[in-house]
Amino acid sequence: MSHIRFSALQAIENRIDLLPDDFSEAESASIASYFGQNVFNDDAMRRFLPENAYLSVKAAIQSGQKLSREVADVVAAGMKEWAQSKGCTHFAHWFQPLTGKTAEKHDSFFTMTHDGRVIEEFTGAALVQQEPDGSSFPSGGMRSTFEARGYTVWDPSSPAFIMDVGGGKTLCIPTIFVTYDGLAQDYKLPLLRSQAFLDKAAVPVCQLFNPQITKVTGTLGWEQEYFVLDEALFNARPDLVMTGRTLLGRPATKHQQLEDHYFGSIPERVYHFMRDLETECHRLGIPVRTRHNEVAPGQYEVAPVFEEINVAVDHNQLLMDVMERVARRHKLRVLLHEKPFAGINGSGKHNNWSLSTNTGVNLLSPGDSPSRNLRFLTFFVNTIMAVYRYADMLRASIAHAGNDHRLGANEAPPAIISVFIGEAMTRLLNRIADGKKTDDAAVKRALDLISKLPNLELDNTDRNRTSPFAFTGNKFEIRAVGSSQNCAAPMTVMNTMVGLQLLDFKRDVDRLMGKGIEKDEAILMTLKKYIRKMKPILFEGNNYSEEWKQEAARRGLSNHANTPEALAVLATPEAEEFYTRSGVLSKKELDAVLNVQLHAYCTKLDIEAKTLTEMVQTLVVPAVVRYQTELAQNLAILKQAGLEESAELQRETLKQIAQHLGAIREGLQALQAAQAKAHAAEDLLTEARLYCEEVKAHMERIRHAADELEGIVDDQYWPLVKYRELLFTR
Ligand code: ADP
Ligand code: MG
Repeated sequence: MSHIRFSALQAIENRIDLLPDDFSEAESASIASYFGQNVFNDDAMRRFLPENAYLSVKAAIQSGQKLSREVADVVAAGMKEWAQSKGCTHFAHWFQPLTGKTAEKHDSFFTMTHDGRVIEEFTGAALVQQEPDGSSFPSGGMRSTFEARGYTVWDPSSPAFIMDVGGGKTLCIPTIFVTYDGLAQDYKLPLLRSQAFLDKAAVPVCQLFNPQITKVTGTLGWEQEYFVLDEALFNARPDLVMTGRTLLGRPATKHQQLEDHYFGSIPERVYHFMRDLETECHRLGIPVRTRHNEVAPGQYEVAPVFEEINVAVDHNQLLMDVMERVARRHKLRVLLHEKPFAGINGSGKHNNWSLSTNTGVNLLSPGDSPSRNLRFLTFFVNTIMAVYRYADMLRASIAHAGNDHRLGANEAPPAIISVFIGEAMTRLLNRIADGKKTDDAAVKRALDLISKLPNLELDNTDRNRTSPFAFTGNKFEIRAVGSSQNCAAPMTVMNTMVGLQLLDFKRDVDRLMGKGIEKDEAILMTLKKYIRKMKPILFEGNNYSEEWKQEAARRGLSNHANTPEALAVLATPEAEEFYTRSGVLSKKELDAVLNVQLHAYCTKLDIEAKTLTEMVQTLVVPAVVRYQTELAQNLAILKQAGLEESAELQRETLKQIAQHLGAIREGLQALQAAQAKAHAAEDLLTEARLYCEEVKAHMERIRHAADELEGIVDDQYWPLVKYRELLFTR
């Protein structure tokens, strides 16, 4: 009998020859010699644009101003010249619709004039705006069917780049995606709005300390976790192909309990893939720097040097895309799903977030001068206060079907948002909160305390890994983001909530100063008030423990354990206030986001349920029946020979098989009924809840029975690649 399982395993045996022995280009050249060679970066702009056009683009990037039509034409011509010098034949507006992936529509530079001549052109109009078929992307009901148009509009703040796919090269232009009325339909426009909002709120606060600060920008350094496995194994698992995760599979006898994978040596094939990926990333200007094994077998991480959020988001989206393509070249597949395998660690994407100024200062980095320390304390406390007030918004931004297998599901981190700041900062905040006075002497004392802090960055090595939101010396690390997710969603919330908080802070300080209180005292008084208020969000203990759940409930912290509950918050007046007061989303856009996310959740679960049903019926059950028949025949033969007593094991096994098959039959029926019930729900939230509570539960039951059968049935008959093979075959 030839199974796809065994031919897949055979294929891997034959992969030995595949190891590329020649990495000459990447090997011999220093990274600096090709870094950013496929990016229309500052250097390329200087070379391909006339001085005044170059300066206009720079100004547009700085201020967000629009370029005139004439300048756009000049920029387009320069871009085209640069792209063609690198072998591009096509251009594409590259955007980030609410699917979470990236999208692009390719157009050729080549065109025909009205008199039939062939020319190559790229106009300013084509650079600035395009009209992809909007109807193929989710809009959450913002577009009516007769107005399906969507527009992509150039975002000059993220540089154009060249995508090298299948031997063809395309000039990709980062854009935002909007409706005919200019409503956001993507992740980028809200992100850009949140950055502008944060800048506006943070600058006046900075100017309390230094009038030279005129711009504040969020920074993001992501850490991308992923799994890698052989293409043949991937293709032999319909669940991986259709849903990105295994819906069935009995845990291997060894998984990660020996903890021997983390920082172990990287397998050779994967190492080749990583090097190839890094070279590709560096050409695209993605500053990836670290690579290592993760905790689970087959799991890895890649992280760059941090960048301005907008660019970092684009780079992460681009990375996820490039990863998949490079992996295919190596006959590997990358799994970006949050939980590809049950029973072993899932994948996340830590988002390291901070604020930086035009004067080159990291606002979350304590220093040695007193004024700098009060500024640090201001941004530190306000960020935590923002999390305290708006934790629900942050939780909603990372809610999706894949992440439900991590958050709140016995895995890092929990669904309860709390903040870890470490021992030294905890002591400091307590001192301030407990201080009786906030006079001049108190300010001095507080600043003195900060300057005596041990080096927090170095001192944070044993930091709490169970916290969803941790201060790590000079930045906050948001650990609950899912590995497959667009970072723009949580980053938009970070910017917005800190912006809102800073507006309130400035108002509070101004009020006190209006009463004649000294500036530093007014600041300390306000911070002290916040520290006392935000205490419930601070937690230094074990976030996985049962006690924390109870303690968090006592403290009044939310615990939205699944996507429907986390998203439901977006329908509240608080959410509306959050997004409309900041101007980051209009009510209409917010409703659309909620609809799109709920719809995506239901659709994903529906696909999973259908895939599971099909796999069980067409793969699992036939294999079980075959083995059952064999056992039954054996039993009959033994009976005929009068050896019935010696067939105890066979009889017992047959009984177990019958039991599990019965559970599967019941499970499938119940699953179908639950799906039908969900389909018939009156609104999307109810539907999502039904998927979450009923459909998922039946899927789990079916899986359990099938996994039990996997442990009984003759290995030769089992058609699905087993966990031990998925995780340990190299
Ligand atoms: P760990 O795995 O221990 O969290 P890493 O060194 O892998 O630490 O990750 C640190 C991440 O933090 C890197 O992606 C880095 O670029 C990022 N980072 C460092 N400083 C900042 C900053 N000021 N703003 C945003 N991200 C930062
Ligand atoms: Mg980290």
